[in-house]
Amino acid sequence: MSLKLIDNPPPWPNGARCAVCFSFDMDVESLLHLNYQGSARRRIVTSSTMRYEPIRAIPRLVEIWRHFDVKQTVFVPGWCVETYAPSIELLVKNGHEIGHHGYLHEKINLLSRDHEAEVLGRGIEAIEKVTGKRPVGYRAPSYAFSENSLDLLIENGFTYDASLMGDDVPYILEGDKGSLVELPSDMTLDDWPQYVSMKEFGVQMPIRSPERAFEVFRAEFDAAFDHGGLWVSVWHPFISGRLSRAAEMVKFIEYMRSRGDVWIAPLAEIAAHVEQLRNSGAWTPRIDRLPYRDAEVPHLVPLPQN
Ligand code: ZN
Repeated sequence: MSLKLIDNPPPWPNGARCAVCFSFDMDVESLLHLNYQGSARRRIVTSSTMRYEPIRAIPRLVEIWRHFDVKQTVFVPGWCVETYAPSIELLVKNGHEIGHHGYLHEKINLLSRDHEAEVLGRGIEAIEKVTGKRPVGYRAPSYAFSENSLDLLIENGFTYDASLMGDDVPYILEGDKGSLVELPSDMTLDDWPQYVSMKEFGVQMPIRSPERAFEVFRAEFDAAFDHGGLWVSVWHPFISGRLSRAAEMVKFIEYMRSRGDVWIAPLAEIAAHVEQLRNSGAWTPRIDRLPYRDAEVPHLVPLPQN
C-alpha cells in the first residue's frame, strides 16, 4: 500500500516490516482467589479451567514456539510464579521472558501508593526467586495502570511497560522520576472479548470460532505489516492455549512467516531496540507525559445523581 498510515514508524531490525510478540498473561486462578476470598476453593470448575494453563497450555505453547524457533513474553502474577514454579522454569529454560503482572492480580488503581509498591515488590521477589532474574517488563493486571505506576516502575528499574493503548508503535512514557518504553496493544488483540464466557468474572461473550477471532487478529497484523507497526497480543494460556485456538495459532504463525520480514521477539528485546534507536538518534519516539491531567476536569453544570 503506498499510502502510509503511520507517520513515523521505527526502523525494525534487518529491515523487518513490523515487530510481533505473542505476549501471554498467565493468571491461573489468581483472579478467582482475588475476587472470591472465602469461596474460591469451592469453585472447582473455574479452577479447573484456569489450571489448564500450567497443565496443558504452557507445555503446548512452549512446543509451538520451539517448532517455529521464536521467543515470547509471559506476564505472571507473583503468586502464580511461586505456586506454579515448574511452568515458569520450563518457559525460562526455553528462552522466554517472564514479566511482572502483580502479585494476586490486584487492580492497582484501586490501591494506595504504598500497597501498590508492596504488590510490585512481592512480584519482583517471586520472579527473582524462581527465575534468578529481576523482571524488566510490566503489564498491569486488568489494565488497571495507576497514577503511581510509572514512578514505581522507574524506581524499581523496569525498562518497559506493556499495559497501555496509546499508539500503533512504541512510545516513551515520561514522568517526574524519568521515563520508560511503552509497548502498546489494544483490545482488538486481547482474547477475552473473542472467547470468554465465565459467570464468575461477569464476562459472557458469545464465543467465536478461532477462525472468526483470527480474522480480527490477522487484520491487525496485516495493517502492522503494511505500515510498520507493532503487533502485541494480550492472550491467556487458559483461553488461547485451548486445543482449537492453539491449532489456529500455528496456522497464523505460518501465515506470518509466509509474508516474510516479520520480527518476532520478546518484549524486552523490542524495548531494548527502541532504547538503542532513541539513544543513537536513529529514531525519535513520541513522548507521552504522565499524569495526563493534574486535576479533575470540572463539570460545567451539576449532573443528576442516579
Ligand atoms: Zn492478567
